[in-house]
Formats: sequence, C-alpha cells, structure tokens
Amino acid sequence: MDVTRVLVVEDEKRIADFISRGLESAGYQVATVHDGTSALEKIHEIEFDMIVLDLGLPDMDGLKVLEKIRNRKMSPSVLILSARGNVEDRVKGLEMGADDYLVKPFAFVEFLARVRALLRRGSTMPERFQVGDLALDALRRKVTRAGEPIDLAPKEFSILEYLMRHRGKALSRTMIVEHVWDMDYDGLTNIVDVYIRHLRSKIDDEYPVKLIHTVRGIGYMIDLPAELKS
Ligand code: CA
Repeated sequence: MDVTRVLVVEDEKRIADFISRGLESAGYQVATVHDGTSALEKIHEIEFDMIVLDLGLPDMDGLKVLEKIRNRKMSPSVLILSARGNVEDRVKGLEMGADDYLVKPFAFVEFLARVRALLRRGSTMPERFQVGDLALDALRRKVTRAGEPIDLAPKEFSILEYLMRHRGKALSRTMIVEHVWDMDYDGLTNIVDVYIRHLRSKIDDEYPVKLIHTVRGIGYMIDLPAELKS
C-alpha cells in the first residue's frame, strides 16, 4: 500500500505534536518542522502529498512558504492553519494557491475531515470498514449493522470510525479523547465511557455478537470475538 506523506509546518510545539500524532494514528506518514526555512528544506528533499501550513512562523510568513512551494511547481495539497480568520486573509491564502484554510482553534475531527477531503482524489486511504456484520462508510458517514442503518451522533460516529480504523487494537481513553475532541479537552476521559455506552446501545446491545470490547487498564477495542475469528 502506498503511504500518504504529510508535512506539518507549525511552530507551536503543542499544536504540532497534537496534529502529527493525530495524523499518524489516522495512518499518514508525518514529518514535522517548526519554521519556514526547515519547511522549504524538507519539501526539497521529500515529495509530500500534503502540507499543513501555519501562517505565523518565527522566521517568515507562511504565505512566503506557500509562494515558494508554488514557484517550485511541486504539487502537494496545502492546508493553511491560522489564527487569522478574516475573509481577506482566507481569500489571500486561497488565491496564493492554498487548497483549504482552517482557522484556529479547530477540532481535530474537522481538521482530519479537511485533510481527507483534500487527499481524496488519488488517495489510497481506506474509507470503508467492516467488522463482522457492522459496516462503516467514512465518506458517506453511514453505519449499518446486519444491513440495518444505524443513526449515530457525530462524536459517536467519530469514535466508532477511530476504533474501526484500528480494528483489533486497544485504544486508550486518552487517545480517543485526543482524536475525537478538540485539543483542549484534557482530563475528561470519562466522557469516553459515556459515549461508548451510547455506541453499545446502538450497535451491540440488540445483537448476540458483541463487537466493542473493554480492554482492562487500557480502554476499548473493536473486533469480532476471538471464537468467531477464523
Ligand atoms: Ca504560529
């Protein structure tokens, strides 16, 4: 399978780490740099599929980086992240060749949805997942179990999608919170238990085969029960 390479250009370490870890757990290969000069060096040595670009960099304006990326006739998608949210700034970024523009602060799910949307053409990321008779279509945001459509709230959907993308792997409450809620949701991991309860009532309770498993001391996992796995 091809890897999708993403370069994160962001000087605020906490945001950079948050984004890179999130993208990594969504299956992307991520490189991170904290200033414009390093960004241009990296872009020169590796071909990226996407650049996540902060505008307020310590050594140059992100728009300068964008300009140089475009001058080099390289063709990665560029998603601008910025605290500058007015229409003028957005238009300027898009006119200079950015593919999308996201204003800080943002929720990771929205960020990931934008990244996916930009990479969709020619993307090799799987967008349909199946565990037993449970199916999730990430593009159409549809879930069915035994062919029956199931209505999920957006956060429930995001948690289920995250579990299904990592089928068979135990995910901690912290990982789930960081993936599904915005970056300032520190310390509220109990909320995960509440949402898992909702999810179970919708996708597991009425069915004899339970797919969501509690992994003691870690968190949750989705998979067929061991005895049903071939
Ligand atoms: Ca910045």
